[in-house]
Amino acid sequence: MELTEKQQDLLRMLPGVDHVLELAKSDSFFEKIPKSLRVRCVRSVIETLRNTVFEDSGISAESLSDIPVIEAVKARVNQEMTPNLRRVINATGVVVHTNLGRSLLAEEAVENLLIIASRYSNLEFDLELGKRGSRYSCVENLLCELSGAESAMVVNNNAAAVLLCLETLAKGKKVIVSRGELVEIGGSFRIPDVMAKSGAVLKEVGTTNRTHLRDYAGALEEDTALLLKVHTSNYSVVGFTAEVTLKDMAFLASSRGIPVMNDLGSGTFVDFSRYGMLKEPTVQESVSTGADIVTFSGDKLLGGPQAGIILGKKKLMDSIRKNPLTRALRIDRLTLAALETTLRIYRDPEKAVRVIPTLRMLTCDFRLIEKKAGQLAEMLKGLNDSRVYIQVRGHSSRVGGGALPLQELPSMSVEIRIKNMSVNAVERAMRANMPPVIGRVAEDFFIMDMRTVEADELPVIGTAFETLLKKGLS
Ligand SMILES: *Cc1c(COP(=O)(O)O)cnc(C)c1O
Repeated sequence: MELTEKQQDLLRMLPGVDHVLELAKSDSFFEKIPKSLRVRCVRSVIETLRNTVFEDSGISAESLSDIPVIEAVKARVNQEMTPNLRRVINATGVVVHTNLGRSLLAEEAVENLLIIASRYSNLEFDLELGKRGSRYSCVENLLCELSGAESAMVVNNNAAAVLLCLETLAKGKKVIVSRGELVEIGGSFRIPDVMAKSGAVLKEVGTTNRTHLRDYAGALEEDTALLLKVHTSNYSVVGFTAEVTLKDMAFLASSRGIPVMNDLGSGTFVDFSRYGMLKEPTVQESVSTGADIVTFSGDKLLGGPQAGIILGKKKLMDSIRKNPLTRALRIDRLTLAALETTLRIYRDPEKAVRVIPTLRMLTCDFRLIEKKAGQLAEMLKGLNDSRVYIQVRGHSSRVGGGALPLQELPSMSVEIRIKNMSVNAVERAMRANMPPVIGRVAEDFFIMDMRTVEADELPVIGTAFETLLKKGLS
């Protein structure tokens, strides 16, 4: 490629790495920046400038002078110093959003987590006996108390819980599952695949829409180890359907002396139908209905940290606990600290709904969402920019996280359109903001659902738009 004369001039003006590093030496900003990072950022900025000159995208000589170059290096350093895993503002309205971290912890849980993270603890030390104790003891009794189960333990997540239970109770033997419940959760969790990994043999019965008790009864064989009921947590089979209740399955299983396992998926101690929402089977109901083993997630409807909770009959739980896999799937102390505190809150269900963010957002008063929408709309209108068009609209948000798939939650969103900026460019700019604002794009609007936005995040969104309007798209 032939370079123009102007390009050749610009290339000659490009500062050298040593020169820029020398400049950085006299700038206090760089005092605490490790040398290796300084060098890397300087190289990267010069490289970018060189490429820009090659592409001839109208770069000015001025932008190659000392001050703009050092500013660019500072911006690059700031970018490098920011953690890759960072907080975002969830304006999607999806409360249990797996891509955005699922559940936020209650304040009390965060406080306890901080202490346990920064101090030694009795993680595996029995303070009464003065000798080695069990890692799970801090949550075992609480889980039994809340659920009515005989015994409990926790592992890394619910996928691990299902794997561990199947491996312990049914390796090399058959597990009967309805074809209507062969769930895929996304992120590659599929019941048939987990079953295969556990060494258990899947015995499908019934059809996608209809399964009867006689299907289970007819499939029972000498080597059947388990009946498995999987809660269809992220879809619903509607129309001409028949599903065997847990109660009937438990009756059949116990008459043949085999256990029934219930993978609840979300798992909740709160009956959502009491808050005008659809019914989601509770953990207590599953236990009292006769499930011998129940598994569920810690960070879906429960609103705690990522964890897989296993409850059930003592005899089965004892054999699960002895499985060497538990060591590979074990939960860490930070999670345990947050989980224990979250579970303690459930002793007072009214309080749970108030202070556990997932529950609070799901059950929150519509007027509160409406108020936040009004406030944000006012803030954005207050920017007094004639390019901005704002509308506030009612629509429904989702529970997410594979829970209550049919539930529509009446919500409000602030929708924005900016003249001479494509909606995708606006979405990208919001995603690049610090902290990123994650919304939806539809019908040429950038849409922010106020259910999942905290009141103190409204000014942050306001500032993000103010900056975007001032700077334009970069
Ligand atoms: C979500 C879910 C799982 C997986 O739980 P994780 O905690 O994400 O590992 C398993 N089974 C069902 C039915 C689920 O809904």
